[in-house]
Amino acid sequence: MSLPHDTADPMTLLRDPSILIVGAGPVGLCAGIALLKDGHRVAIVDSGAHGAGWASGGMLAPLYEMAADPTCPDPYLEFALKSAELWHVLARTCAVDLQSPSLFLARTQEEVAALLSLQRRANRLGLDLTSVCVPAGLTAQAAFQAPTERSLAPRAALKSLMNQFQSLGGELLVGQAYAIGPHRLGLLDGRTLEAETIVLAHGFSATSFGQSIPALRALSPVKGQMARVAHPELASPIVRAGRIYMLSRGGGLVIGATSDPLAAPVLSVDVDPVLALLAEAKALLPSLATAPTVEAWAGVRPDTPDHLPLVGASGVDGIYLATGTYRNGWLLAPAIGAYLSELISGKTLDQALMNLFAPERFSS
Ligand SMILES: Cc1cc2nc3c(=O)[nH]c(=O)nc-3n(C[C@H](O)[C@H](O)[C@H](O)COP(=O)(O)OP(=O)(O)OC[C@H]3O[C@@H](n4cnc5c(N)ncnc54)[C@H](O)[C@@H]3O)c2cc1C
Repeated sequence: MSLPHDTADPMTLLRDPSILIVGAGPVGLCAGIALLKDGHRVAIVDSGAHGAGWASGGMLAPLYEMAADPTCPDPYLEFALKSAELWHVLARTCAVDLQSPSLFLARTQEEVAALLSLQRRANRLGLDLTSVCVPAGLTAQAAFQAPTERSLAPRAALKSLMNQFQSLGGELLVGQAYAIGPHRLGLLDGRTLEAETIVLAHGFSATSFGQSIPALRALSPVKGQMARVAHPELASPIVRAGRIYMLSRGGGLVIGATSDPLAAPVLSVDVDPVLALLAEAKALLPSLATAPTVEAWAGVRPDTPDHLPLVGASGVDGIYLATGTYRNGWLLAPAIGAYLSELISGKTLDQALMNLFAPERFSS
């Protein structure tokens, strides 16, 4: 729904902060923290619903996710590597625990060849990816250890980022964004918030503003499902093979993740995909056969046609977008926060990145 500029609304609530962010997921919170550090006054409004960030694996994995993909544009890989570095600093200041190293397993000769090729690319980037023995209990043809590929526990990290945002002076509001117009945001409860700049960072839900902001129509939902099983932690805290990852977390194992493009976002946990995921994990770790499943959940990744995010001016006065982070919103969040803050502060940005992230790139 769109709000005209001059709506006369008796419930209008004028807010002091010059920047209003919609969504307290990893992207909204990291953007809020970066903007506060750069001297802006910032509020975040969040509905309280679980977003993709809550449902995520929390992998911070530019090698596995970007460098392993030969079609990944170099500026995007550099951006992701920079974001992984920014996590180091942010994790320390926000008391977020980062786990490492990652162990990459190859189950077939093709996967061995792919990991050897990734090793060459990693080495060219100055990153370590070392061939190691396959640990006892795991079934694979080869293993490589990546000390710089990390992960975080998303649910705890969201709380830590929220604390950091508030301790820097950020204002956290509860409300569901419902209508948008130049410099104005309508909430479902009837309130209207005004700000010089509004940043839409509420993941896939931002598509509900597609009528007012055509760039958001490029978003599509990709469902992901994961499970937690009661199993002793593994010697390596992060184990990956193909689409599977197993994370030693909270005394058990978190196993992810399915990836199913959908016509519309649905958060049900579905038997077949979760069973297939667990069967694939069991082929790598046979001792999973008798491990009880204690939890399963689903989330929706905000995807775009080129799988790159939408970050920048929306085409509507005073409104910016920071969404479309697909499989890597946690990884990219600190660099997106820094990028947005520079953009909003009027600084000159890398033109190649601006072209890659331009929200209106699909509009024609
Ligand atoms: C199963 C799964 C596994 C994943 N694994 C990884 C991974 O390992 N590493 C990685 O980097 N990424 C991963 N991702 C992707 C990552 O989770 C997303 O890219 C990221 O969460 C997007 O962050 P966000 O802040 O834009 O949105 P979200 O995390 O979706 O947060 C949106 C926030 O906005 C709020 N909100 C929604 N609608 C409204 C509204 N109308 N008004 C106000 N507030 C609203 C929600 O309450 C929520 O707090 C995974 C995703 C899934 C589903």
